[in-house]
Amino acid sequence: MPASCCDEFVRLHSNIGRRGFSIRTADSKATLHFNAIPPMDEQRLAEVLKPAKIVAQLVGRESIRFCPFCGAALGT
Ligand SMILES: [Zn+2]
Repeated sequence: MPASCCDEFVRLHSNIGRRGFSIRTADSKATLHFNAIPPMDEQRLAEVLKPAKIVAQLVGRESIRFCPFCGAALGT
């Protein structure tokens, strides 16, 4: 799996646990995440990584096979 196929992928990969979109890679699979939470709770999300303990308006995750930016194949 290309861990750094392009700058945008690297940017989202480093955004795990924060508000907005992020990409998590584990076990040769990539997942697109998004966390819609109030700005004042973002620090708590980063600290505990337990969205159920804060007021999350929307949390989602979707398996992705290709980088949404450059199209590189992700995982198997
Ligand atoms: Zn890419």
